Amino acid sequence: MKDGIRIDGRKPDELRPIKIEAGVLYRADGSCYLEWGGNKIMAAVYGPREAMPRHIQDPTKAIVNARYNMVPFSVEDRKRPGPDRRSVEISKVTSEALEGVIFTELFPRATIDVCIEVLDAEAGTRCAGITAAAVALADAGIPMRDLPVACAAGKVDGTVVLDLTSDEDKEGDADLPIAIAPRTEEILLMQMDGHMTPAEFDEAVELAIKGCREVSKLQREALMNKYKTFEVE
Ligand code: ADP
Repeated sequence: MKDGIRIDGRKPDELRPIKIEAGVLYRADGSCYLEWGGNKIMAAVYGPREAMPRHIQDPTKAIVNARYNMVPFSVEDRKRPGPDRRSVEISKVTSEALEGVIFTELFPRATIDVCIEVLDAEAGTRCAGITAAAVALADAGIPMRDLPVACAAGKVDGTVVLDLTSDEDKEGDADLPIAIAPRTEEILLMQMDGHMTPAEFDEAVELAIKGCREVSKLQREALMNKYKTFEVE
């Protein structure tokens, strides 16, 4: 950080460029392609459909089953294919964040499967994945009480900054990804690594929520773009 400007030229409270497109896959019930800085992510939703095998069914509500996966070419050194500890953790916290807004009780014994494929990774992929998954869920017509959105803030060179890049994540002091339900600002996910003072933590949460609000607008625009209808003359 030099004169309040970050290594990639952003101000402390600035997001990386974001592009969101809804409904990009023909065979999924809902989908979303999202680019966020150097991240490229595809999310696909299948369901609600009968959960199989039967013993995993919940007679009172649907299961939300998100699977986060990084493809081998998404990182600098080829990543070994298949699940690892990190992807299992991210899948779990993502499932729980999404479950927090879905009206699961409407679909007993069902499963709602959410596949998140990270095609290119450059820090903040769990936030980008949740953001893409939310758009894919809406595209699939899954009833939700809000459209979840996620964004991280952190601390680099002693300054609280929004949306860390890979270098900032590696060199920085702390990273705090959060997901919220933007209407109520209820927290759906909060994780942190590194160290911050309580005052810095409060500042980072506030900044991450501000980031979430900006990303939320882009999610809604992406859905409007897909579903807008033209008046026929
Ligand atoms: P997030 O992507 O949500 O920030 P992490 O903090 O765990 O999650 O990872 C930070 C970044 O480190 C990732 O976005 C990715 O760019 C990189 N990374 C993660 N796993 C690997 C891996 N196995 N090999 C190389 N780089 C990785």
